[in-house]
Amino acid sequence: MTHPKYEKTLVVLKPDAVQRSLIGEIIKRFERVGLKLVGIKMFVPDSVFIEKHYTFDPEWKRKAGEKRIKDFLEKGKELSSNDPIEVGDQILTSLKGYLASGPVVAMIWQGAHAVEVVRKLVGSTEPRSSDVGTIRGDYVIDSYVMSADDNRAIRNLVHASGNLEEAIQEIPHWFSKEEIIDYRLAQEAIIYE
Ligand code: GDP
Ligand code: MG
Repeated sequence: MTHPKYEKTLVVLKPDAVQRSLIGEIIKRFERVGLKLVGIKMFVPDSVFIEKHYTFDPEWKRKAGEKRIKDFLEKGKELSSNDPIEVGDQILTSLKGYLASGPVVAMIWQGAHAVEVVRKLVGSTEPRSSDVGTIRGDYVIDSYVMSADDNRAIRNLVHASGNLEEAIQEIPHWFSKEEIIDYRLAQEAIIYE
């Protein structure tokens, strides 16, 4: 097994993060915990690229659909469909429109348990219930119910790989080998040795 300090994860600052001038604030959170930035670029993705990103996991659509149906049931609200795949499709369609609507900043962060640490700093998917102190909890207010009522994707500022397997699939989709920089930070001696 490779040493955990080499673990890499993908972070994408979605168009709302860029438009709200939060790039620096968000990067600061990953830097200050001791993670190392090993890849970064800004571009406008197209919807085919985004669809591929969200469909590495063939179960994602169904799971996202089930999650939204459950959330609506709990809040006593009606959905246009109760078929998880159909609801998942609606989520994917609005996500594609949202993520392809303007520039995003894609980054690779490396360091001990990077996937887990980044998810902890990012917070849970729905900003309404993300903890205070997390990126989604501190910088944005939105909910599944409100975004569905307004027929748009939820504004949650960032994508971060959900687990190691996802990170391993997502990183080569977003970055070529040449775009990933292998270098040493002075602070690594203090953090790891
Ligand atoms: P994440 O890993 O925390 O980003 O969450 P998921 O992998 O479950 O979902 C990916 C993205 O799909 C989320 O960041 C949201 O933008 C969107 N999404 C997932 N579930 C829902 C939902 O129930 N409603 C809405 N509006 N968007 C959702
Ligand atoms: Mg995810």
